[in-house]
Amino acid sequence: MQVADGVHQFKVPMRHNPLGYTYSYLLRDSMTLIDAGIPSWDAFSALDRQLSELGTRVKDLERVVITHMHNDHVGLIDYLREHADFKTLAHRIAEERQLEQIRVYKDIYRNTSEELQLMGGGSFQQFLNRFEHAFKEDPKPLRLDKLLEDDDTLDLVGASLKVIWTPGHAAEHICLHDAKRRILFSGDHILPKITSHISLHTWEKRDPLSDYIKSLDKVKDLPVDLILPGHESNFTNLPARVAQLKQHHQARLDEVRAALRGRKSTVFEVAGIIHWDSRPWILMDFWTKRMAATETYAHLTYLRNKGEITETNEDGILQYNLA
Ligand SMILES: [Zn+2]
Repeated sequence: MQVADGVHQFKVPMRHNPLGYTYSYLLRDSMTLIDAGIPSWDAFSALDRQLSELGTRVKDLERVVITHMHNDHVGLIDYLREHADFKTLAHRIAEERQLEQIRVYKDIYRNTSEELQLMGGGSFQQFLNRFEHAFKEDPKPLRLDKLLEDDDTLDLVGASLKVIWTPGHAAEHICLHDAKRRILFSGDHILPKITSHISLHTWEKRDPLSDYIKSLDKVKDLPVDLILPGHESNFTNLPARVAQLKQHHQARLDEVRAALRGRKSTVFEVAGIIHWDSRPWILMDFWTKRMAATETYAHLTYLRNKGEITETNEDGILQYNLA
């Protein structure tokens, strides 16, 4: 679907994912793709078909600009590479993060098990044990041909894109601003309905929620008429959506503060008390609980860094208290 002059939006299907699609965008004049899709032949043929409707093919691609390194955006690149010789561009941090990921994955079962204990989820260890043999995949890094910095300008044929580094959902996340067309390619930084997953693992030393809130402010006042996201649907009122997202995280922080009132708690205990949009904690399966716990951990880390709560390690379990 053409969404602006020379800009096409492709629906790249993701089976077994409630989001349904990843959007990949083609800047036709420069044969530049923004994001790709999940690694599957289904996704490949959907992308190839939509390219061919425009009289072009995968082999004609010149470059892929990556908003962030999650599998639903970059996984398909390996498939595309079998048919085309294009350049990949991503934020500089993406390279560091790939190396970090490989290091963590070398011992992913032990790291995950340790994290479960630290977060107070030790009683779920039996669920993890069942998957011990599933933790064998060895991630191979994606070849990145050009590393981008915040505020870089990509001067392409028919388009000029400003790189806006927006860490939070992913440390390497970027949005791309086409000032002439008054468009923002928002990746998963800002989606129209769901809130992006902001999470932290115990082996990471970051404050993704603090990053995310700053990254929301960074894009909020951009002069744009249309926001083209990585999922869901295109939308228009950026300041209103940013305000909603900030309010959502403030409300969740309030819930975390309330959960800690009068008692010390673990990450899992706090996660079990706060409200989740998808479904109640009690109905979540183990993996969803784990995602909720990493999101809770990001909120706890934010409050700890602000000095509002304290974190102590008691016999290998992190305990939180209001300061
Ligand atoms: Zn995504």
